[in-house]
Amino acid sequence: MADSPSAFSVAHGKESSAPIYRLDTAAFAVALQRASDLDELAAMAHDCDRCGLRAGCRTVVFGEGNPRARLLLVGEGPGATEDAMGRPFVGKAGELLDRILEAAGFHRADVYIANVVMCRPPGNRVPTPEEMSACRPYLERRLALVDPPLIVALGATATRALLRPNARITQERGRWHRVDGRWVMPTYHPAALLRDPSKKKAVWDDFQLVREFYRRLS
Ligand code: SF4
Repeated sequence: MADSPSAFSVAHGKESSAPIYRLDTAAFAVALQRASDLDELAAMAHDCDRCGLRAGCRTVVFGEGNPRARLLLVGEGPGATEDAMGRPFVGKAGELLDRILEAAGFHRADVYIANVVMCRPPGNRVPTPEEMSACRPYLERRLALVDPPLIVALGATATRALLRPNARITQERGRWHRVDGRWVMPTYHPAALLRDPSKKKAVWDDFQLVREFYRRLS
């Protein structure tokens, strides 16, 4: 894992070689808040070992996109292709997401793409609540830094992470939810569309609502 002395120097007031997982909760929170841009936050994340997922993946997939995006998309976690390439949504589901975005009038470069967890769960299983909780401070700090008014929650895991733990995608998708001063639109994950193409119409409808709101904000 790469060193990120900047993250530790802000936490301790001097450079330290202590890995991020040895920072206690308070020091971690301070380091996180003092990460003043996405590059600093990414450096912290690449040193992270706060949950067991790091041991089983190749790399931390931080996220990418426009650092001032007005629309941020949140998926579940990296898959095999994302883990191999170190980028979010670059496998088959990512290709489909690109097509969905284009069809709705967005370019991938316009938006920011993140995941609930940044390390690939073994066998692409759903991350546990503990893993989601361990990675959540990074997601929250990214939301604060990018500060998008609109968020799309891609799939059940992102919907539960952003709305509430018992939220159901089938009930919540297709309408806006006000969360911490932002608008969240849950919709199906592109991987779900690959398994069940009958969901495409719903996602199309949801992204039309996103496009409409985005235009109004612009
Ligand atoms: S999933 Fe998140 S919290 Fe867990 S090790 Fe990876 S970066 Fe750290």
